Amino acid sequence: MSCQDSFRRSVHYLRISVTDRCNERCLYCFPRDFAGWSEKEDLLSYEEILATVAVSVELGFTDFRITGGEPLVRPGVPDLVRGIVRTPGVRSVRLSTNATRLAGLAAPLREAGLAGINISLDALDPKRYYEITGGHLGPVLEGIEAVRALGFPRIKLNTVLLRHRNEDQIGALLDFAAQRDLILRFIELMPVTSREVLRPENFLSAAEVRRNLEREDRLEPVEQPLGFGPARYFRMEKRRVTVGFIGALSDLHFCEQCNKMRLTADGRLRPCLGNQMEVDLRPYLRPTIDRESLREAFLDTLRKKPLEHSFRDYYEPERTMTALGG
Ligand code: SAM
Repeated sequence: MSCQDSFRRSVHYLRISVTDRCNERCLYCFPRDFAGWSEKEDLLSYEEILATVAVSVELGFTDFRITGGEPLVRPGVPDLVRGIVRTPGVRSVRLSTNATRLAGLAAPLREAGLAGINISLDALDPKRYYEITGGHLGPVLEGIEAVRALGFPRIKLNTVLLRHRNEDQIGALLDFAAQRDLILRFIELMPVTSREVLRPENFLSAAEVRRNLEREDRLEPVEQPLGFGPARYFRMEKRRVTVGFIGALSDLHFCEQCNKMRLTADGRLRPCLGNQMEVDLRPYLRPTIDRESLREAFLDTLRKKPLEHSFRDYYEPERTMTALGG
């Protein structure tokens, strides 16, 4: 078996975007050249998503994440979670959310069998939060407390690093996570945004934040896997918090363990976030689901998964994270 074969065989994690819509307007995420959300009929139905999940399981996929856009703006997400959880061969279903609608949905999501949740939290100061996301912090904090109260496993907080905009929030975010025993992850700005945002004056590397934290505390590497992604985790000794770093640009080993593919809300399979290649699965899902052809198309795309992203080349984003499913 070649290196490439074994790399592809380790791919077992599918991120499913259920909508490109979002109720926030994050600086780094919201399309500046916004021309309207996908039409409802372009979005895969839950039946079509479940058929794609079943095919992916036959090809070795075991772990799934529901994302978007903001997944919780689409009605019925707990039903989709339940459907995926019940698909034979599925090991885990997780969710990424901005948590603005989480408080009211936490109980049905827990009951549906959600195995973990990632919550975007870019600042703890309400004004800063608003400047970055265009949204309000209050409901997000309520959402976090709701999932804690329900004893959700694996609650992680995601902070996208933006120089000058939330650099001064890092200490407060670490304290917040430590007090609640949550994992905090710092995500480096990726070139899946408009060029006007991805400018040197906005960029703050995960490596720089890590170096700064190392000056004030001991960061002990966490060996046990805390997720399926490329984050590197450390336990901060004095602060007593687990912190993760996701550095698509500064971490030269970022792609080595990549085990995931993405299904966009409009039914395209994307093997690598940092490569424009996408395969439209809708011809195999509509007007009726053709399982055999769907499986072939899925496998063919999996075989083409690049070994490395192209972010360090001159990568021009054609679609932002809202469309790709971050
Ligand atoms: N709306 C959900 C949320 O807020 O988590 C799910 C989708 S969002 C696109 C998923 C994650 O991608 C969030 O943590 C978000 O902060 C991150 N993200 C979006 N655009 C990004 C970019 N250009 N660079 C790095 N991370 C980004």
